[in-house]
Amino acid sequence: MIDRLPSHLAERTRQLNSIDTLYGDGPVVVWLKSSFRVHENPAIEVGATIAQQNGLPLLIYHGIDERYPHASLRHHNMLLEAAIDMDENCRKNGLRYVLHLAREGHRQPVLKQFSQTASCIVTDMFPLPPWTEWLQTISASSKGPVFDVDCHCVVPMPMFGKSVDRPYKYRDATKKLRKKRLQASWPVLDVQAEQYVGELPFEPVDIANRVIDPNERISLLQECNIDPTVLPIWDVRGGEKAALQKWQKFFDKGLNGYARRRNNAADSTGVSRLSHAFHYGFLSPMRVAREAAAVGTKSADKYLDELLVFREHAWHHIYAVPEPYAPSNLPDWAKQSWRDTSDDPRPVLLTPRQLEYAASPFELWNLCQQSLVRHGELHNNLRMTWGKAFPLWTQHLESSLEQSQMLNDKYALDGRDPSSVVGVQWCHGLFDRAFFPSEPVMGVVRKRDVVTHSSRLDTERYGAHVNRNPSQIDGAYILQGRNPITSFVADVLTDQGYSAHFTETEDVSSSIDSIPSLSDHDFQRYPTWLVEKYLALDEEMHVQKTRAAPSHVSDGRTEDGSTDHVENRHHTALSIISMIEGRLVFTAAPPESDPSFSTGRYSDYSVPLVEQLRHAAWDLARRMFELHAHQSESAYAVQTRLF
Ligand SMILES: Cc1cc2nc3c(=O)[nH]c(=O)nc-3n(C[C@H](O)[C@H](O)[C@H](O)COP(=O)(O)OP(=O)(O)OC[C@H]3O[C@@H](n4cnc5c(N)ncnc54)[C@H](O)[C@@H]3O)c2cc1C
Repeated sequence: MIDRLPSHLAERTRQLNSIDTLYGDGPVVVWLKSSFRVHENPAIEVGATIAQQNGLPLLIYHGIDERYPHASLRHHNMLLEAAIDMDENCRKNGLRYVLHLAREGHRQPVLKQFSQTASCIVTDMFPLPPWTEWLQTISASSKGPVFDVDCHCVVPMPMFGKSVDRPYKYRDATKKLRKKRLQASWPVLDVQAEQYVGELPFEPVDIANRVIDPNERISLLQECNIDPTVLPIWDVRGGEKAALQKWQKFFDKGLNGYARRRNNAADSTGVSRLSHAFHYGFLSPMRVAREAAAVGTKSADKYLDELLVFREHAWHHIYAVPEPYAPSNLPDWAKQSWRDTSDDPRPVLLTPRQLEYAASPFELWNLCQQSLVRHGELHNNLRMTWGKAFPLWTQHLESSLEQSQMLNDKYALDGRDPSSVVGVQWCHGLFDRAFFPSEPVMGVVRKRDVVTHSSRLDTERYGAHVNRNPSQIDGAYILQGRNPITSFVADVLTDQGYSAHFTETEDVSSSIDSIPSLSDHDFQRYPTWLVEKYLALDEEMHVQKTRAAPSHVSDGRTEDGSTDHVENRHHTALSIISMIEGRLVFTAAPPESDPSFSTGRYSDYSVPLVEQLRHAAWDLARRMFELHAHQSESAYAVQTRLF
């Protein structure tokens, strides 16, 4: 079947099982996992071609699972925004697109059912677990052929797909393959496949009514088992429309200065900041590469080197290795070096929470971590310095890899990508050489010192960039009464760059004894994010510390309560947050008529504290959606070029 595909599609397609005939007359199902675009999407094109060649109907299926690593509001919101564009663009192109969102009451095994009814399944290639394992299971049980198609690399992974130990060797080995593909335009396929209109094993999400309006979207998201405390990045919209606009803007205004500006992390427009768009497949790397190649300047070449050598080197490596996250993938010299220094005393040992909440002794490192948490991104030049600090602050190689991977993937919009694994492992010696003489802890693995980096960076400017408001809407959150729940809310807001203040400080020590411990059953019953937040809160209550500003709001409240004085600065109060009957209440003015708001004692209510925490997290997420998710996007016209 692959033989009958046009050559530019055949070279990036592989079959995953050995069934050589289409099964029955069911639909050709294109299952999209990581390439949410209609322009230059080889998986859709392969599906459409097979459907047309065999007179079968075509269905574009997008399933959002809750079981991917670090499933959160941040990542899920990107995926739902992507679905809005997919829905619109598929309609325009005569394709039927359906979205399944795994959630309460909707957790049926859709793909398993498709595997029994589809004539064949075509999916986009994504070489990381758990996706690789899901695909293996589907391929083994499917009644028809299953194909995956590379939508992520200009040099197709099935064509090369080797792990090469240094980027320059990858550059040389793939030079001809790359050149040929950069010079050719992407053929326009004249394929009209019939739309599948038959039965579906699930009820597709009504995108017009449940996804487009953010207030509806958050209700839908609330049905999912995801972490609501990792808030969306409001100024990065998901989907191909925003990604194409952002690329166009960088092409027009940033690409020419790329070679000169790309290493200065304080220069926020010196790089494209589009890695999330490649990760989610909102942008065709083939199109971007062709457009950049046609410019032909030193800067464009440098940009192409990052996109086509460093990025694709990582993808081909991950495609080739059976266990992408394993420390055994490091080169032998690096593994030996880590063994040699395993007993070296670490200059400072930080707990996972100190790392996550940016509490290292170094301001610049903390800014890097805050950039990930608050804005879901980190500049490449600082990302290397950020990553190289983990071995110095953790007990051993495994915990260093694990902690840095976790923080990268939980917060970065471009995380959970082959480039994430390779970036993290590069900090531990992957694709590098030994540097002599050996140093304590780092041994002969290249080091990058955070203090040295601070001295050559305009840290103040970079700090202002990181400390920018995460939303276009400015203002403060005023918390009435300090108790474990309001402290938790204050921490979530503060960690993610919002301004949170208490009106008063209640002595939290009075409630310490009554924070109940979680049982083994609770550990199994509650999602990981909730257990982690609960344990973090317990620890904080004992030291009576929250990350929210300790400032007190004075009595300078205006009559409608909308503006408060916080430490002599005027803040518009976006929300006054109180606790009433064990639930958070958000008002424009304090609900003074209700006496319970001022103390807000969580222990007065029958609902267990851990449940109150879960409710508080979702109530806060809903309020944040109401306030921030309607921000207008800046539209930038996308030009159609002829290459
Ligand atoms: C510890 C560590 C973790 C990393 N984690 C990720 C990650 O989770 N996801 C991710 O996409 N990249 C990751 N990188 C690589 C790199 O930091 C980002 O790709 C880059 O910062 C993205 O910013 P940009 O889009 O402005 O890049 P630009 O400078 O504009 O580069 C253009 C494109 O080239 C690619 N690219 C650039 N640099 C690299 C690189 N060193 N390796 C691979 N691809 C590159 C990206 O797709 C990027 O969009 C990591 C690097 C390190 C050291």
